[in-house]
Amino acid sequence: MSPVRSCSRTACRQPAVFTLTYVYADSTAVLGPLATYVEPHCYDLCAEHAERLTAPRGWEVVRLPYEPGAPSGDDLEALANAVREAARPAPAAGEPTGQAVEVGRRGHLRVLKSAQPNRER
Ligand SMILES: [Zn+2]
Repeated sequence: MSPVRSCSRTACRQPAVFTLTYVYADSTAVLGPLATYVEPHCYDLCAEHAERLTAPRGWEVVRLPYEPGAPSGDDLEALANAVREAARPAPAAGEPTGQAVEVGRRGHLRVLKSAQPNRER
């Protein structure tokens, strides 16, 4: 029943989705899922500001993964898919990717063997 918290950055009215915690002892800024309680040295950040976050000089930023089952899991999955899509090299037209040939399936596993047979010496 807590009101929606907003980003702590000046002039930003986006809803907060991350909490940034400064661990002064370790010179580490930890960026994780929105904390349940507001604590000292914690700053709520929207997705955009969390993305742009840079650590102060000499500090390290640790980004925690979302917890499984978090409400924003769908968004995260969509983001992960988009990243994978972007990272995938465009395959040459008509060329199979990789060196393996599929020779069978066992349930969800594919049985592969090398495309170039190893010759016995
Ligand atoms: Zn913001």
